[in-house]
Amino acid sequence: MKLVGGVARCCNCVQDRTECRVNTRAIIQGRTSVKAGRVTARAPTGTSCLRCNMSLHRLCDLPRTADLWEKVNAKRAMLATEKTKAEAEKKSAEVEEKKVASGSKQKSTEELGAAGRLK
Ligand SMILES: [Zn+2]
Ligand SMILES: [Zn+2]
Repeated sequence: MKLVGGVARCCNCVQDRTECRVNTRAIIQGRTSVKAGRVTARAPTGTSCLRCNMSLHRLCDLPRTADLWEKVNAKRAMLATEKTKAEAEKKSAEVEEKKVASGSKQKSTEELGAAGRLK
């Protein structure tokens, strides 16, 4: 846990003029996994400050996690769009004929494009 001050604090702590303690290791780990493409629709665990996490149970908008939130929100929006689309497709499919629709999604692995050429 690291004590941050001034503008580095999250909004809730700035507002309440309290100490803002953040788990920098969790934030670094969260950022690493986001960079590796493992973006979830929720903020990586431990990226909220201690107060938001333990007593406020609010979203913690630390300036240093703003980039993570961008990714999380984008992912969330994408999932919401996918869900709406899937539901619409499901409905029309149900009208046409009752197919067995499985909800399983295949995980697509990203290929590194540049590694194709041999020396
Ligand atoms: Zn805080
Ligand atoms: Zn906070």
